[in-house]
Amino acid sequence: MTAKAEQNLSELIRQKSADLGFSICGIARVRHLAEAEAALNKWTASGMHDRMNYLTRDPAGRADPEKVFPGAKSIIVTGLNYYTEKRQRHDDVPLLSVYALGKDYHGIITGKLEELLEYIKTLVPEAEGKAFCDDAPVLEKPWAVEAGLGWRGKHSVVINESIGSFFFIGELLLNIALDYNKPLVNDKCGNCSLCIDSCPTGAINTDRTIDARRCIANLTIGNRGPIPEEIIPLMGRRVYSCDTCQEVCPWNRDAKQHEVQEFIISDELAEMTREEWLTLDNDRFNRLFRGTPVERVKYERFKRNIEAVSKNLPSD
Ligand code: SF4
Ligand code: SF4
Repeated sequence: MTAKAEQNLSELIRQKSADLGFSICGIARVRHLAEAEAALNKWTASGMHDRMNYLTRDPAGRADPEKVFPGAKSIIVTGLNYYTEKRQRHDDVPLLSVYALGKDYHGIITGKLEELLEYIKTLVPEAEGKAFCDDAPVLEKPWAVEAGLGWRGKHSVVINESIGSFFFIGELLLNIALDYNKPLVNDKCGNCSLCIDSCPTGAINTDRTIDARRCIANLTIGNRGPIPEEIIPLMGRRVYSCDTCQEVCPWNRDAKQHEVQEFIISDELAEMTREEWLTLDNDRFNRLFRGTPVERVKYERFKRNIEAVSKNLPSD
């Protein structure tokens, strides 16, 4: 394919990704992300990955898309906005992270990426690809940066100049060459340190890494053990993940409402009272959270979280 043809094809792909509802899209040449592998190794060697031991297995493989999709030449990286103001109604109840208010995003994103792949095949019949969203050893944040979607903020989340940081990342690996976006060279955090200063548990290091042993996102989800006693008073009402470092970020000041019907909070969840939260049983948990990100932690771990934050709820 000529450079001009690759350029046209990339433009059609970016347009189709917007038609499918993705908020942003970038394309990068596949390579071994040696610098991301080194950063991952340094972080896990420090012990800050907590009990996420899967991150220590095959770091070289994680940094090399060839290992998960042999013949990969290009990676399309998409972002899907999930920001919303439609949240839980009561302010004395355990608080869910914004991304966990609606249905699970994994299937929605891989479904859209598979549609994108089908479209690409109509243009290039020999094209083959594989879609991922959080479910494979692909280093999604470094790839989002590589594809020009944004930069890693001091809180380590990727920030896009237009839509901020409340977006899910998806990837489509392809066996064809395309025209590529350029990574942003400039860090746009500047002198700001609002996320570091606002983190309730002091989990954000000054080198753009997170100490997962202190981060509420990890401690309420991936962590299967007890929540450390010294962290509980710092959690406030945060029962499932935490949005604080993103909420305070100036780049999210103009975050727009998402347009994904499935992400909208159900009336039942929005209206749940403190009493209902504190007496949540297994059956209601299953009914409320089936098919949502919260389902992942199962009832026992979620109950552990509710019990932890119940100590911090405002008194009657
Ligand atoms: S998610 Fe919450 S606890 Fe984790 S780094 Fe951000 S502000 Fe801190
Ligand atoms: S709050 Fe400030 S330092 Fe933190 S990610 Fe946003 S701009 Fe960067």
